[in-house]
Formats: sequence, C-alpha cells, structure tokens
Amino acid sequence: MPSSVAQLEALVKEAAIEAGFDLAGIAPARLGDSRELRFFSDWIAAGRAGEMAYLEARDDQRRLKRASLEHVAPWARSVIVCGLNYNTAHPRSTEYHDPERGWISRYAWGPADYHEVVMDRLRRVEARLREAVADPALETRCYVDTGPVVERVFAAYAGVGWIGKNTCLINQRLGSWLFLGVILTSLELAPDLPALDRCGSCTRCLDACPTQAFVAPHELDATRCISYLTIEKRGAIPEELGPDMGNHVFGCDICQDVCPWNRKAPASSAPEFQPHPERVHPALVWLACLSEEDFRAAFRGSPIRRAKRSGLRRNAVVAMGNSGQRGFVPLLRQLVHDSDPVVAEHAEWALRRLG
Ligand code: SF4
Ligand code: SF4
Repeated sequence: MPSSVAQLEALVKEAAIEAGFDLAGIAPARLGDSRELRFFSDWIAAGRAGEMAYLEARDDQRRLKRASLEHVAPWARSVIVCGLNYNTAHPRSTEYHDPERGWISRYAWGPADYHEVVMDRLRRVEARLREAVADPALETRCYVDTGPVVERVFAAYAGVGWIGKNTCLINQRLGSWLFLGVILTSLELAPDLPALDRCGSCTRCLDACPTQAFVAPHELDATRCISYLTIEKRGAIPEELGPDMGNHVFGCDICQDVCPWNRKAPASSAPEFQPHPERVHPALVWLACLSEEDFRAAFRGSPIRRAKRSGLRRNAVVAMGNSGQRGFVPLLRQLVHDSDPVVAEHAEWALRRLG
C-alpha cells in the first residue's frame, strides 16, 4: 500500500489518466450546506425537471437522493471525479445549415453508449485503488449519470472545472465537451481546490438559447430546453416551442457551441467518440420513415435510443416543419395518417407551418 494519503491521491489520478480519462480530481463526499445542492433541491421543487423522474428519486425519508449523498452512501468520505473529453473535429451546430438534415447532439455521435465507455474506465481506476489499498473493508462505488450524485457539483469541488452559466461543467483547457464519472470511496483523501468560475461578464449562452430556457444564469428550466424536449419529453411538444426547435432531432449543443471556452477545445482521439456516419446530421426523410427494425439497427448501443423511435420520428417531423422546404409536403401528407398518433399530430403541425 502507498505509504501516505498523498501517494494514494497521486496513484488515483495516474490510474485515471492511464484508463483514458483526461481529467481527475478529488472532492469531499460531505459538501455540508452546499449552495449548489440546495439549489438542486429548489430547482426540483420548482418543477424545472419536467418528466425526468429519475432526478427526483427520494430515499425512504423523502429526501432527494441526489441532494443527500450522506444518506444514500453514509460510508463515503471522498468522491473521485473523472472527466473524459468527447469533442471531435467536426462543425458546431451554429456553423452547420442543411434544411434536409437534422442535428444530433455531439455527445451521441459515437458508436458506443458513453455510460459504458465511462463506466469501463472508472472500473479500471477502482480496481487500481482496491489493489493499492488491499483492505477488504474499503468501500467504493462507481456512477455515471444514473446514481445519487450531481456529478458536476462534485466535479466543481474537485477542481475539474466550474459550472458555467449554461449549467455545464467547463474546464479551462478542455472546454465543456466532457463526460463525467465518479467513484465514491470510504477513503479519506485530501480534496483538491475548487475551480474558479471564469464566466465573468459573458452571457453568450444565455443570449443564444433559442427557447429562452435559462430562467437566470446557472438556472435552466429543463421543460423549455430542446435537449429535454427531443429526448425526455414523451407525447406532444408544446406548440409554442416547436418553431424554436429548428432542425434539432436529438439534444441541442447551442449553449456550448457559443461558449468561448469551447473555441479551442481539443479533439479527442478516442475511437469510441469518432462519429458514426448515421448519427451525424441524419436525413430528415430517413428519420421520419424509420421502421422499428431500422431504428434498432441504426442506433444499437447508442444513447439516441433514449428518445425512442416515436420521439425521433416526431422530432424529424417538427424539423421538417421548421425547414421551410416545401419538398417535405408530400411525405408529411402521408404522415398525417401515420399509425403513431404523435407523429400524425406533428405532421399536421408541420404542414400548417410550411403553409
Ligand atoms: S441546450 Fe439548447 S435549448 Fe437547452 S439551454 Fe442550451 S441552448 Fe437552450
Ligand atoms: S458562454 Fe459565457 S457565460 Fe456561458 S458558460 Fe460560456 S463563458 Fe460562461
């Protein structure tokens, strides 16, 4: 076993880099009366999470799991936060205009599901830690997105980056195209210094949001956000938001694309994030006509599956309505009779919009 806590911290960070992460830091598991976690509870109470019930999971005493790590993992003393750059050298949504094609969020372009990619790396770091400590009483647990942890809050306390006004975690060197994963551990490691907030007086992300989803800096009303609408929202898109969705069919990158800290963000060479041909700018006609079989084959192992076939077809139809392309009219007239009522309803909307 390394002779000092400092050696153990160095070992953990080295193991993270060896496992393929770009960033690693350590945060205390107990954040006390953290402003960010209090804010999360208020955000949930205000109904800003929409239909994302997983964010509202509560323990048996009705406490929000994501705001009370000390209750769901009372043994945890430290949180190891790892960051993985998924940026690739391809255009930003703000630079790309093809009315026949839809926009898929950058994080979902790769051939694999990032949950597995990040989890696989976390397990390697965890294994190194366990091997080094060699104590059967050591407790560790890895999470990517789905656990009781607001990752970006711990990432900020671990010095991995700051939480920008667009609510994304931003690293000074790598920008915000980052997947985060955490390892909770019972080890008492010395935390890193929190990162400085470097947004300054900039408001580009707030100004660029097409649906005015920011209630205030750092405060997102998810129910207005295109990412939520295209991925999490089932059924009908609120009529007043449809026109602002543009050509987005899965997620939205605008508030990150305009961020100056992403201007020089380096590209990752990790094969898992290199764009899969069908997952970057897919043709709207192809998406709108996807059979269940095509959907399964085209998006096997991809986070895009979360939108489900019905949602993706609905989004493609909305994008057609926003395209200004009358060439879509014959297909939309057919889709008005689609067996999926959500697709049919949005095809009617799109026809009205195309005049
Ligand atoms: S992801 Fe898009 S819709 Fe959501 S807040 Fe950012 S710019 Fe607005
Ligand atoms: S665009 Fe400006 S305000 Fe928004 S996150 Fe980036 S630096 Fe911060």
